[in-house]
Amino acid sequence: MTKKSSPKVVVIGFDGIISEFLQKFSKKGKLPHITSLIENGVFAETFPCPPCDTPTNWTTIMTGAWPGTHGVISFFAHTSGEPLDCTHPTTVSSVSQAEFLWDMAERKGKKCVLLNYPGSWPPTIKRGIVIDGTEPSSAWWRISYADMYTVGSWAKKNIQVKKEAGPILGGELSIRLEKASGWINLPKSYSPSLEGAIPLKGTSTYKWSEVGWRLEAKPSSQKRQIFYHILVIDSKDNGYDRILISKSKNAAEAVAALKPGQWSDWLSEIFDREEMLSAEVGIREDKVEGTFKFKLENLSPNAEKMLLYRTDIWVTKGWAYPEGIGEKISKDIRPFTEGLEIVPPSTRYFGNWNTYFEQLEEQADWYVKAVAHFKTHYDPDLLVVQIHVHDAINHVILRDVYCGFPGYTQHESEKCWKRFEKSYVVVDKMVGGIMKKCADENVYFAIVSDHGAIPTTKRAWLTEPLNKAGLLAYRKDKHSRGLVVDWPTTKAFPYRTYIWINLKGRDPNGIVSSQEYERVRDKVITSLYTWRCPETDECPVQFVLRKEDAVFLGQWGPKVGDLMYYLKPGYTDADADYARLESQAALLQGIGPTQVGCAHHQYLPWAKLDDFSVRGILILSGPGIKRNLKIKRPVWIVNIAPTLAYLLGIPAPRQAEGNAIGIEVPPGMGGKSLTRKGKKEQVYTEEDEEDIKERLRGLGYFE
Ligand SMILES: [Zn+2]
Repeated sequence: MTKKSSPKVVVIGFDGIISEFLQKFSKKGKLPHITSLIENGVFAETFPCPPCDTPTNWTTIMTGAWPGTHGVISFFAHTSGEPLDCTHPTTVSSVSQAEFLWDMAERKGKKCVLLNYPGSWPPTIKRGIVIDGTEPSSAWWRISYADMYTVGSWAKKNIQVKKEAGPILGGELSIRLEKASGWINLPKSYSPSLEGAIPLKGTSTYKWSEVGWRLEAKPSSQKRQIFYHILVIDSKDNGYDRILISKSKNAAEAVAALKPGQWSDWLSEIFDREEMLSAEVGIREDKVEGTFKFKLENLSPNAEKMLLYRTDIWVTKGWAYPEGIGEKISKDIRPFTEGLEIVPPSTRYFGNWNTYFEQLEEQADWYVKAVAHFKTHYDPDLLVVQIHVHDAINHVILRDVYCGFPGYTQHESEKCWKRFEKSYVVVDKMVGGIMKKCADENVYFAIVSDHGAIPTTKRAWLTEPLNKAGLLAYRKDKHSRGLVVDWPTTKAFPYRTYIWINLKGRDPNGIVSSQEYERVRDKVITSLYTWRCPETDECPVQFVLRKEDAVFLGQWGPKVGDLMYYLKPGYTDADADYARLESQAALLQGIGPTQVGCAHHQYLPWAKLDDFSVRGILILSGPGIKRNLKIKRPVWIVNIAPTLAYLLGIPAPRQAEGNAIGIEVPPGMGGKSLTRKGKKEQVYTEEDEEDIKERLRGLGYFE
């Protein structure tokens, strides 16, 4: 009898997928592949860990540890004892104080491949393969974010600009066309050929946050700028209908010839390393190659209006480990470009959703091809793929499908439902492609997500009630003349679900004595619970609690504030992050209209509003797993890593606090056994026992 090969696990991560949407489209028959996994396996909704956002929860999913233990708290975390407005980015692997599943897997001799898993970069594994894994739309390896080149006033007159979509800046590069001169090898044109020049890079640097893209800084004017020439021609005597894009004024050397609706091939250009938007990417060469492509969106027959879209420009190396893998995969497929699945600002401005979906399909297809590549050449035991499509769309249009949104119209809602459905169909096809490449009798498939989303209808900034209660003070800044926090009179400072007390002896400008500490915390709680929306008399706060009372939410350690607050579903403080940077005065506005399309980080894990929730999902299918089992009660996502470890036949990551579902089920966290009766329990080796003991020692159970 041949020895049965060891189990393999394929994890597919969908950032921000909404459980209710998934089930709706599945019932409609639109998601055959995901539905087959559900029908042949186990489906559960999951409770994310607060703050219910991306870095916190992808880290929890792969460590099995609570945020208090792993320390990856939101995108930026404040650490107790530093100035209260000081925060540090969390989306680098070294921030996690807990071991990842792939580290344990590698120690047990397993081969791992990680494709764009948030928080996995820089790689912590030595023998495996890692592609990117920074954070959605980070500046790493980027020369430019996507831009739209425009001629004329197309955006303002012909396309409805959704102003309420948020403070999205840039994304548009306006150019002028004039009569062409000095060209050689000109193609036939029935109207006089026109020319223009496009700067290859955008003029803005963006930063992605949970509220979308924000303008970070303009690149220095000293930086090099490459221009391409555009030639506009009338090829059929029917008005202008075609453009050439060329590095020189020799039309025979054009890199692209496009009719409206056409994409160019992937193009490349050489840039100075200094032109990259981030300096921290470990590329030694002075020159880097960047790749991108164009699509001619629109061209009016009189050429007075034109929209030419350009994707992000991404460098062709640096984003893959070990060195040389990036080159191989670029040759086999094409270079990876992170973030093609994220709705670019131009889609918000110009409504070019078809272009967005074409780009998304190309990205999903890249993942399928990459999986095939690594399956053939490396055959990993643990394969992890993450795509950030759903969260990106939710933040733009989720509230358009919510009838409680003040700007709701049936027409817009129907359009947006089609977009949602399309995005789920694209990822289902991706799942099908990955299943086709990996399905085998010893392979488990897991689909996981970090959180869902809830549409937003109102802004609720805590700065207002705290200011009114005399807990948070502002003063006029001499230089900017704007308002800034007055630390010598500030007792409480809110930041992303936490409120920090300005404590004497701990915080650099602390004014609250230890004797006064409890009274101040009480005052904060009272000020928030007595806060009212002037229109509805509703309190926007769902729950405020002291740090020591929040242990049941996985909250402890130096990055957890003195108090935690959660808003009622529909209220958001996400745009306070913008306001904080742009105008402190705005923060005193309290409750009012919001500019963001959805929210999740400021809600409790079980928050729901109509058919929207913050819950994540877990789908598991594979040998021995029960079929068509819907776990009724949500599973905390700390249980995912131990479950995957169990399926892989290895101990859970060392700091994991969750348990494999169905193996040791704590009250209220699951229920039924996942595996069929009669399946043998995994037998741990002595070394595994040692790992388990070490983990328990870390938890304080063993000496
Ligand atoms: Zn997320």
